[in-house]
Amino acid sequence: MTGILYVVATPIGNLADASPRAIDTLKSVAVIACEDTRTTRTLLARYGIATRAVALHEHNERRAAAALVEALREGKSVALVSDAGTPALSDPGAWLVAEAHRAGIRVSPLPGPNAAAAALSVSGFPAEQFLFAGFLPATRSARRKALEALEVPWPVVIYEAPHRIAQALEDLTQRFGDSRQILIARELSKKFEEVVRLPLGEAAGWLAAHAQRAQGEFVFVLQPGQAPDTSSVDAEHVLE
Ligand code: SAM
Repeated sequence: MTGILYVVATPIGNLADASPRAIDTLKSVAVIACEDTRTTRTLLARYGIATRAVALHEHNERRAAAALVEALREGKSVALVSDAGTPALSDPGAWLVAEAHRAGIRVSPLPGPNAAAAALSVSGFPAEQFLFAGFLPATRSARRKALEALEVPWPVVIYEAPHRIAQALEDLTQRFGDSRQILIARELSKKFEEVVRLPLGEAAGWLAAHAQRAQGEFVFVLQPGQAPDTSSVDAEHVLE
């Protein structure tokens, strides 16, 4: 019997958001693969979880994955977690998961916190469909180019690093105009959580209004663009 690879979502800030099933699973597996063992230890300490933790991050993922798949083959179960939220979503983990599938090992998700879903849920934009853009490119020229692909008729979720928030808002405003709405979700589930929805033209002012706003973790949700007007095309088609 091989073990099971559990992909376990962990809190994005508020440790109380760990689900009872996530805690039980972290207690029961043979080993926990963590993005940063120091970060995960805070969660493990909070819930009295004594399971051995090993590092699996972008710089050692292939080597660490090989050892973990070996353990899974021997019948040991493994939990994969990242520093926050759902592993393998803008986080390491996809390589290990793919290797487990290749080895015929059962992979089971423990659903839970995710910053993109949390932000989308408080955006008020219809989200029957949405585009998850993840992190925009770090350089300004590449970022501006990437924004061109985000003109879509559904909400766009964007992750951003704290030191690029002001620049990113400026680029978004230039590309999509002052009146397009944006949802800014800052420090979700934490003490200084803020959620505002405002026109892009007011975003820079909102950010500058309090010095501490420039810090913390952010998700943006951009209001959907207009769907392309196909009515004239349809009319021509009908006439034909
Ligand atoms: N895997 C995570 C998830 O499921 O959401 C995302 C990891 S990604 C490396 C980190 C980014 O997620 C941050 O830069 C920020 O954009 C977003 N994020 C994570 N926690 C957040 C929070 N508490 N509030 C707002 N954004 C957050």
